[in-house]
Amino acid sequence: MKVKLTKKGVERWQRGHPWIYAADVQEKPKGLTFGDVVQVVDAFKGWLLGHAFYSEHSKISLRALNYDASPVDDNFFAKRLEAALALRQTLYPGETSYRLVHGEADLLPGLVVDRYGDYLSVQLLVPGTERRKKLLIDLLVSQLKPKGIVNRSDVNVRNLEGLTPEKGVLYGHVPEKVPYREGDIHFELDLLNGQKTGTFLDQRENHVLARQYAHGEALDCFSYGGGFALQLAKSATHVTAVEISETACAQITANATANHVPHVKAVAANAFDFLRDAVDEGRKFDTIVLDPPSFAKNKGAVDAAVRGYKEINLRAMQLLKPGGILISASCTYHVDEERFEEMLDSAAADAKRRVQIVERRGAAKDHPVLLSLRETRYLKCFVLRVL
Ligand code: SAH
Repeated sequence: MKVKLTKKGVERWQRGHPWIYAADVQEKPKGLTFGDVVQVVDAFKGWLLGHAFYSEHSKISLRALNYDASPVDDNFFAKRLEAALALRQTLYPGETSYRLVHGEADLLPGLVVDRYGDYLSVQLLVPGTERRKKLLIDLLVSQLKPKGIVNRSDVNVRNLEGLTPEKGVLYGHVPEKVPYREGDIHFELDLLNGQKTGTFLDQRENHVLARQYAHGEALDCFSYGGGFALQLAKSATHVTAVEISETACAQITANATANHVPHVKAVAANAFDFLRDAVDEGRKFDTIVLDPPSFAKNKGAVDAAVRGYKEINLRAMQLLKPGGILISASCTYHVDEERFEEMLDSAAADAKRRVQIVERRGAAKDHPVLLSLRETRYLKCFVLRVL
């Protein structure tokens, strides 16, 4: 089946952008079905440009799979998985917990696979991967020999593709608690019910790094299971972990006990209120982490998101003693690094503090960025020193 691209579509394809919108499709054959792999063709020259997943209901009609005539068969997916695994083995020799497949950035559109030792957590986000569920699971089983695989496709983006959110066990047996380690901090993850695919793997390397900077009185806002808080505790004298979810707070306390860092105290509160009250009470901290959820799901919400970021960063800067460390993250793709940095500059001016950028970081290395797809560059994590 051939799908022909308009001139604009061809230009986009040739720049390596892996998404082609419906408006850039000149002509599609009748009878295309759910998740077909199609040949992508230049409508004017008739040339074959490569292959893509077709998605009927999505605004994104095509997701690029390859850029030549080679077939997209079982072996194609086997090779792509092997290539993704090879990068992780290079990055983390001997380790078995990481993001194994990061969708488009691993040239496997609509597929996310996180590996937690013997267990895998999978997201099938487009019809192309949903339809090949059995093949993909068979390949993962033969390449990695996991004991169990969970499906965490319980995400709303599936609705945009005409798929309903789903979760469950796809293979083997998955215990309620799966062990997982970051440096020397141990966690037990509930892969079926935890946030995302079990935890926030993208912040893994930043968690570990935070320990190096932490000192004195520390505050971790938007803490979830305490990924930052427990690392801070290894260097700080006391850690307050602020988290709105009571369930997550109980988890922080359990994790702190299991890791013998009883000086982590979980506070169930709205971080915005906590920060405002702390400023009003004249409290001071030496180390603060801000890692909020995404504040903008679309472009229209960017200004409000930036105001939200500014509010919490301004307060954090007011709360820090001279020489204090602020680790400030944003996972909002629509607020890019430049905008985030401008916001920090404006917050510093209002707080009347001079602030050094010590590190500009992003997601862990197993979440590679595809140069031609800016959407894969979503996480910012700045390490700042407030003078
Ligand atoms: N820092 C965590 C991930 C944070 S995800 C880590 O590195 O693992 C964002 C968290 O913020 C979620 O757990 C969510 O429950 C919490 N949250 C959302 N809104 C909040 C608010 N207004 N105040 C405090 N916590 C909030």
